[in-house]
Amino acid sequence: MKTLLSNSILEIKNNIKIWKKNNQTIGLVPTMGALHNGHASLIKKAKETCDKVIVSIFVNPIQFGPNEDFDKYPRTIEKDMLICEELGVDIVFAPTATEMYGNGVKLSNTELTFVCPPYNLIDCLCGKTRTGHFDGVATVVLKLFNITEPDFAFFGQKDAQQLFILTKMVKDLNLNLKIIPCPIIREVDGLALSSRNAYLSEEERKNALTISKSLNQIKILYNQGIKDTKKLFDAAITILDKNLELEYLEFRDFTTFEETTEVKENTLIAIAVKCGKTRLIDNEIV
Ligand code: AMP
Repeated sequence: MKTLLSNSILEIKNNIKIWKKNNQTIGLVPTMGALHNGHASLIKKAKETCDKVIVSIFVNPIQFGPNEDFDKYPRTIEKDMLICEELGVDIVFAPTATEMYGNGVKLSNTELTFVCPPYNLIDCLCGKTRTGHFDGVATVVLKLFNITEPDFAFFGQKDAQQLFILTKMVKDLNLNLKIIPCPIIREVDGLALSSRNAYLSEEERKNALTISKSLNQIKILYNQGIKDTKKLFDAAITILDKNLELEYLEFRDFTTFEETTEVKENTLIAIAVKCGKTRLIDNEIV
């Protein structure tokens, strides 16, 4: 079976109508493309769970800040299509910004209805430096949900804050679907897969390995009984390569998202660094 590539909301809706009529369950995997094995793991999970699978590929302009990498974000649709074909994806939905947001919209919240996640969830971690990022994410994801009407939507724990915010959105807005969290896929040497890894030079990639190493060190010490986040923070910092610029390393309860001074079950340990010009994130949930 061939994967259908569509950039038309109407075409997607027509397919959905048929699937719904046949009582087929629908899984959605939202992505920004430049697909790698992390995305593939979500798609495989969707294939296991649902009758029909849609992968969306959309580099969403409203979640990028003015000085971020929207223009240079990797776009590899032909290669992405081969991967989706191989994995048995039914439809790849790859709309243009105009298809999603209409003509002439300046994409600000004076001209577009936005979803605003709770302030305490966006005023921390990635939201602190990426103002408006999670409003943009929640808005596009709600639109994708409305277009594709999925029974299940698959998101990676790699973007733990995004996963938390979207799970909350589904609950708060009574959306009729279930979010399925999927574990982080890593290279054999520990580096979390990311489309942005393509930006890294050989030297930067070597330095970036210390991100997962520092998280691992925290896990080792925690398993030895050290729970104090200050001690764990200090130990992790000594492992991080000196060429990396730390943006944050924080410990948050993954049920409330509140910062914690003591690591316990279900604590999110989240890190963001600048590696050269590339911003990388990673995390562990213990
Ligand atoms: P992106 O294309 O970066 O927006 O990611 C699309 C989806 O893939 C999101 O739900 C991400 O959390 C997920 N994802 C990205 N990298 C990984 C990874 N290394 N392991 C698991 N999921 C991932």
